[in-house]
Amino acid sequence: MHPIRLLILAVLFYILYRLLFGGRKKKAVPNKKPEIPVQDTLAEDPICHTYVPESQSLSVVQGGKTHYFCSQECLDTFIEHQKRSDS
Ligand SMILES: [Zn+2]
Repeated sequence: MHPIRLLILAVLFYILYRLLFGGRKKKAVPNKKPEIPVQDTLAEDPICHTYVPESQSLSVVQGGKTHYFCSQECLDTFIEHQKRSDS
């Protein structure tokens, strides 16, 4: 076989290869699971004494201290208790 023909054939194979596989771009698949931040600490609900992650809890600052609650109900109960103890 003529060397030039061989070269053309090689180029043709290369183009064909690029057409078949070159278009496949690797997509960045988001494979990571949403991780809970490490700094997310658990706080105790003073009403029902359940431990809740601080970022997912309801919080209220009372007397320079932050209190965390599992639900609005507990928060309301806490505020209600505070009101009673103040007056
Ligand atoms: Zn609670």
